[in-house]
Amino acid sequence: MGLSAHVACGLLRGRTEWGEQGCRCSRTPKWERADVSELRQLCPSCLSAPAGGPSRWAVLVCRSCWEVNRARYHLPLARHSLVNSIYLCASPEREQAEAFQREILDMFDVQKRLSEWRRVHLERLLRLAGLEGVEEIPEDLVHLLSRLYLPPPDQAVLNLAAWLREGGPIPAGG
Ligand SMILES: [Zn+2]
Ligand SMILES: [Zn+2]
Repeated sequence: MGLSAHVACGLLRGRTEWGEQGCRCSRTPKWERADVSELRQLCPSCLSAPAGGPSRWAVLVCRSCWEVNRARYHLPLARHSLVNSIYLCASPEREQAEAFQREILDMFDVQKRLSEWRRVHLERLLRLAGLEGVEEIPEDLVHLLSRLYLPPPDQAVLNLAAWLREGGPIPAGG
């Protein structure tokens, strides 16, 4: 079933087999039997493949970007802390508890910034493809255009990792 990206927020919306998926600008009714009312999203890193999903264990980038990340960067790009290898052992020392708390806060911060990264890159993609001003665009078309105009997953994750670590404004790029 067709989802399309709402350019203003970068999120996919449309009708799914689970129910209606809304974006940030429109309320999504809570889906029964799903941890999260989301079928999938655009990979925020490369925009060329699906990411996320209705499970709490979902990874928030596509498979290729996740594999590059796991091999090189170890960014917390999954929804659940356990999938990001963030956990606390039984009877932790104080430093361990503090490190755990820092990692969790960092994970939430990364998740928030991922959405911002996706939104800015979607706008950039539309500019590169000569589609400025489009408000909504089919998911499949975003995937196709991304493969033509944006860096492939290994480069995309490198750019994302640099921005997440160094902060600052999102590079506008060409
Ligand atoms: Zn929206
Ligand atoms: Zn990706």
